[in-house]
Amino acid sequence: MTGTSTTVIETEISSNKPPFVRFSLLMGILIPPFALVLAMYLAWNRGFGPLDLILLVGMYLVTGFGITIGFHRYFSHKSFDAPKPVIFLLGFCGSMAMQGPIFWWVATHRCHHQHSDQDLDPHSPYAPGDHGWLRGFWHAHMGWLFSPSTEPVNKYVPDLKAQPMLRWLDSNFLLLTFTGLAIPTVIGGLVTMTWWGAFTGLLWGGLIRILVEHHATWSVNSICHIWGSQPYTSHDESRNNAIVGVVALGEGWHNNHHAFPTSARHGLRWWQFDSSWVVIRLMQACHLVYNVRVPSRDRIEQRRREPKFSKAIPSKTG
Ligand SMILES: [Zn+2]
Ligand SMILES: [Zn+2]
Repeated sequence: MTGTSTTVIETEISSNKPPFVRFSLLMGILIPPFALVLAMYLAWNRGFGPLDLILLVGMYLVTGFGITIGFHRYFSHKSFDAPKPVIFLLGFCGSMAMQGPIFWWVATHRCHHQHSDQDLDPHSPYAPGDHGWLRGFWHAHMGWLFSPSTEPVNKYVPDLKAQPMLRWLDSNFLLLTFTGLAIPTVIGGLVTMTWWGAFTGLLWGGLIRILVEHHATWSVNSICHIWGSQPYTSHDESRNNAIVGVVALGEGWHNNHHAFPTSARHGLRWWQFDSSWVVIRLMQACHLVYNVRVPSRDRIEQRRREPKFSKAIPSKTG
């Protein structure tokens, strides 16, 4: 990435995003790819150790469930209730994922549901203008981050803004993001008692983890509105995609989710593995969450029988 192209991206982001969102986007988008190249070089020369794997997977799960169970299923959709310390912990873990401050993330997502695959959807592959599937895919995956907002999305989160604890999480987003980088760095350093261990901890548990997690989340917006099955009526182009379902911790059962947005369970069939649902059930068994919402069997079957939504899909010839 050249200095010029970095400036172009920064200018485009500057035009419509708050400073903290702009900073995290630049950090989160530009740095991890360099980290990946460096990590591949190091792995080639020195190997990829068990500690690297533990920090990568461990931090992926902690911050990933913060996004899927916290930012998405709780803060965006209120699909269960929880005591305040649990709510704080979910918001804390989600904020470490570097996907933007909690208010902005939730507001953008609620806007997506309100206008799914319509003109005001912030990240639909069927955005107005253009098209071909490749440009639609790019816009839904990452391009929307550099596009002007379709609406003042903050109007979607008055309930969250009324809570002082959530205002603290939102305004300390950068601190929490750096905490997410510091944790694997410190663990890597202490376990190996070397600066090198701290560095590789930052690389795998921090930067590479952020790269993988960003693309997993973005794949829900892009892949899961283009490729997959549509067993339920949802009035949009949302799809169930098994690969994204596994990688994105259950979020790939996206047609199910658009059909039943307040359901804490996205993998509605026994074979639709939804790791976030497994964790929610475990938390429920430990009385850490309660009033867990799932659609009744009758409601699920009713949705299956309703007529399919039909939208004019842009040409997929590119
Ligand atoms: Zn969607
Ligand atoms: Zn949702």
